[in-house]
Amino acid sequence: MNLLLLGLPGSGKGTFSEHLEKEKKMLHMSTGDLFRKNIDNKTKLGLDAKKYLESGKYVPDHITIDMVKDYIKKNNYFDNLIYDGFPRTVFQAQALDDFLIENNSKLDKVIYIDIQEEIVVNRLKNRLVCSKCQSIYNKKTKAPLKEGVCDFDGEKLLTRKDDLPENIAIRLQVYKEQTSPLLDYYNERIFNVNIGDHNIEEFIKTVYDGLKI
Ligand code: ADP
Repeated sequence: MNLLLLGLPGSGKGTFSEHLEKEKKMLHMSTGDLFRKNIDNKTKLGLDAKKYLESGKYVPDHITIDMVKDYIKKNNYFDNLIYDGFPRTVFQAQALDDFLIENNSKLDKVIYIDIQEEIVVNRLKNRLVCSKCQSIYNKKTKAPLKEGVCDFDGEKLLTRKDDLPENIAIRLQVYKEQTSPLLDYYNERIFNVNIGDHNIEEFIKTVYDGLKI
């Protein structure tokens, strides 16, 4: 079974993916992580994508789609994959459906993480990321043991450029314009979970029960 996680930036797609990987032995593809890796490694793709990531805008569809197809083919990830952050536009969604059909596969379910904007804005503006291992902290709710330093490897914690307040506003706007139409596109494939202020365990149980996985 292939699953897509859909939801506002900061809705918990990454955290939930980690659970699915660990508990359900699923594979994981985060397009944000793939772009960031390419930026760190200074590849041509990374250089093309950098300005979009830093400003919170979407990388153009053709660049994103080519990267995803390459990644899935190279790793043979046609089944048991969590799609985290892709597709984010209707054009990408159509391209993915076509690509999967050509390869005898499909996107089975779309988990829509329904969360209030206010909650994600608070999360994003307090988010810190380890410059080395990418572990995520929150200044308010999940502070590191020692300020500014990762608990796991002692490396410096940074604020992602796209988590600066002006870029958070852009990301939310872009999401509304380009990604919310996916709810209609996927229609009967959607499994809607309203997370509200529920903790992650409750959320996960609802999804596992609902999807019988
Ligand atoms: P978030 O969900 O918190 O916005 P991600 O790590 O998923 O963060 O993505 C970071 C950035 O990577 C996005 O703001 C965008 O610039 C780029 N990106 C990721 N996925 C896509 C996609 N499917 N289409 C276009 N751009 C993308």
